[in-house]
Amino acid sequence: MSTASLHIVCPHCHGINRLPADRLGEDAQCGRCHAPLFSGQPVDLDTGHFERHVTRNDIPVLVDFWAPWCGPCRMMAPILVEAARALEPRVRIAKVDTEANPALASHFGIRSIPTLALFAGGREIARQAGAMPLPQLVAWIRQHVPL
Ligand code: ZN
Repeated sequence: MSTASLHIVCPHCHGINRLPADRLGEDAQCGRCHAPLFSGQPVDLDTGHFERHVTRNDIPVLVDFWAPWCGPCRMMAPILVEAARALEPRVRIAKVDTEANPALASHFGIRSIPTLALFAGGREIARQAGAMPLPQLVAWIRQHVPL
């Protein structure tokens, strides 16, 4: 019997873990740094780690492009924490501070913030500008990826 396995990028050391799909929900730990692979918190991504997380995770990655001075982004922050609690380990929730990482914002053509972009299989499959409440966010993700 073989079990399907998934690659999960560690949010702490960015190491790539391979684990059986049916063990995802258990408190999986990183084989390299031993930190939990899912801790119910959005992962802050910077220019150096962004690509690895969107291309090497075998689960969809939701990225919030935000900035510290943006009011709607601050409203969105607790919603993203709730989203991480509700959707992990089926979806990875991540954030990119566009002020600290202007190269990423420009690469993705981010014109307004917050912008939510959903990545699966290493490519962007959906994008939505503006804050949204949790039920709407979950429904939007569900439109694009099976949960
Ligand atoms: Zn790690």
